[in-house]
Amino acid sequence: MENYMELIIPSYSKNESFARAVVGAFFSQLDPDLNDLNELKTAVSEAVTNAIIHGYPDSIGEIKIKAKIYDDVFEVNIIDQGVGIEDIEQAREPLYTSKPEMERSGLGFSVMEGFMDEVEIISKVGAGTQITLRKKINNLKAK
Ligand code: ADP
Ligand code: MG
Repeated sequence: MENYMELIIPSYSKNESFARAVVGAFFSQLDPDLNDLNELKTAVSEAVTNAIIHGYPDSIGEIKIKAKIYDDVFEVNIIDQGVGIEDIEQAREPLYTSKPEMERSGLGFSVMEGFMDEVEIISKVGAGTQITLRKKINNLKAK
């Protein structure tokens, strides 16, 4: 393993931009261009927002964010111990949201998939959700 970091935060809405900035700062050691940096930060932001809003709908819980750089990969894990996802296939579908009344767009996972090379979802109802985002470092635009 080349480099790694871990961050644990309570699921306050105001911590979303903090988490996004921290992972972006860690990613910046790869010297990405602004476009790649913004894509990575936006994908992280969608996953962290989901943990805050969907993982812990009625309470404040812990969100763990891990990032690592190894081989040709930049990997981020966003982990909550919240309510979990009943139907992962359905959750991944563009425009699907379990909270239409909150004017959610249902495009969070589509954005993650569009901006990252791999998106993995592991989830168990009542136990929580782990999202893994991977970006191939070789695919980053050379500066
Ligand atoms: P949106 O957030 O706009 O609803 P997303 O594509 O981001 O759309 O997520 C789709 C659905 O997946 C959510 O509506 C929610 O039901 C479920 N989901 C996503 N992340 C989590 C999570 N961390 N915990 C529980 N459910 C989640
Ligand atoms: Mg979302």
